[in-house]
Amino acid sequence: MKYALLAIFLFYSAFASGQSYYGSVQRDSELKLFAYNVSFGGLTAGIGAIINKPKETPVHKAFFKGFYQGCFGGALQYGGKKMTYQIVEKDNYWCGWPAKLVHTAGTSIVENAALNRPFGRYWNLDLGPLRFDFASDAEDNPFRVRFSAMILYDMVAAGVQPSSSYIDWGKSLKLGTLAFYTNEPIFRNDKQDIVGTAYCRSFIYATTSRDVHKTVAHELVHLFQRREHLVFNAWLNPLTSKASTRSKNIFQYSIYVEPPYFSLFYLIQGYHDRENYYRNFYEFEAEWFATKGYF
Ligand SMILES: [Zn+2]
Repeated sequence: MKYALLAIFLFYSAFASGQSYYGSVQRDSELKLFAYNVSFGGLTAGIGAIINKPKETPVHKAFFKGFYQGCFGGALQYGGKKMTYQIVEKDNYWCGWPAKLVHTAGTSIVENAALNRPFGRYWNLDLGPLRFDFASDAEDNPFRVRFSAMILYDMVAAGVQPSSSYIDWGKSLKLGTLAFYTNEPIFRNDKQDIVGTAYCRSFIYATTSRDVHKTVAHELVHLFQRREHLVFNAWLNPLTSKASTRSKNIFQYSIYVEPPYFSLFYLIQGYHDRENYYRNFYEFEAEWFATKGYF
């Protein structure tokens, strides 16, 4: 598993540094992003399916079953991210919901495959501080609601980072995602105003943004990216099943744990100054989907 993690990590570092940024590479970049999303779903689910396979299942069988289901989920994740552009194109925040639902369906399929479960058995949805799990099989606990402690982090961050911030109830309802706003730039980075930041399950935007619709779409993509990386929870499944019954019950039925896998990947891509901001692959991807590649 150590090697699998290392391999996937090197693959994406290499992939991201090979990304082209400017010029007439629109179609190329679109294809690369599609390939990234499909292969990320496929590989993380394939490796997860090996980790979570029954002893008697051969490794290659487990991998391929996880891989093709994961690729399908990854394609839906790509579709969900792409749909965030509708918010900008139609000037309509309600378009956040379909994007979120398509992306969530993809994420559910990838996680389900990474747990080596039959296709379409588990579905989940994040709403504000809650995570809902649905199972199609009566043998499983068919419906669970868990609390995510990360929402507390989000509220502290939104309260501390700008000097004043408010919950935007209207956008939260329309997007299906908790939104904060502030009336000043969130902070300055090398003479550049930062007009939006994604936290764990929510985001903040500045009303000073020249294009709030675009800023919102960009931050939603970051939240989707973070959500996708929670597939690594499925990799840790054999470890968590060794925990005591009491703590297992807490994590299975009350609290959903979201380790900051994505932050690690993001930090390795690095923060860059204004000219090179999109050298960070995740920034590139978010801006790509929020602008349809025109930035
Ligand atoms: Zn960003």
